[in-house]
Amino acid sequence: MIRFDLEGRGIRDPRVIEAFRKVPRESFVRAGDEAAAYGDFPLPIGCGQTISQPYIVALMTEACRLGGSETVLDVGTGSGYQAAILAELVEKVVTIERIPELHERARKRLEGYENVTCLLGDGGLGWEAESPYDAIVVAAQTPKIPPALLRQLKIGGRLIIPVGDRFSQELLRVTRSDENSWDREFLCGVRFVPLISEAG
Ligand code: SAH
Repeated sequence: MIRFDLEGRGIRDPRVIEAFRKVPRESFVRAGDEAAAYGDFPLPIGCGQTISQPYIVALMTEACRLGGSETVLDVGTGSGYQAAILAELVEKVVTIERIPELHERARKRLEGYENVTCLLGDGGLGWEAESPYDAIVVAAQTPKIPPALLRQLKIGGRLIIPVGDRFSQELLRVTRSDENSWDREFLCGVRFVPLISEAG
């Protein structure tokens, strides 16, 4: 997985590669799916949701440009895999999931990670209490960027988010350049499950 699907497709950050070496992806898939855990595709995790494919998790993580001292918000905990990868790379990870069953399972899996806080709630509203964030990663599709996420970024902070309709989205990196401006960069085309949020 690391050689072909990550390095082979352009993931370069050595810290990101190291994080993927450390986190056992088979612990984040459903019982019985362990043999498929290192394939470069999403897998079902129950409740109609999926664990994202490894390359996309790596791309989103690298796009955050993490040095080690950051606080990161992870929207859509799902299996908890993205949160575990981030936990290897930064000081603090706040991860939020709207489905109680998934939240509870991920919370148990992530018990050994002392720098991860698992929350149950609507991540489209962000999580004000721990804001502002150096980076925010959203693993669910949205037609518009939720304003709360833009506001909860530090100046210089990066938001990685798939924006578009249900069938195809543009993965964007949105960097807050000052109090009232955000720069958008296109990263690649993607397809995520929907963000179900009061934010729309
Ligand atoms: N990062 C996850 C990917 C999970 S898929 C992983 O590594 O496994 C996206 C997740 O976002 C789903 O679990 C879905 O329930 C959740 N989700 C959708 N809308 C949400 C919202 N408004 N707030 C929090 N989580 C949400």
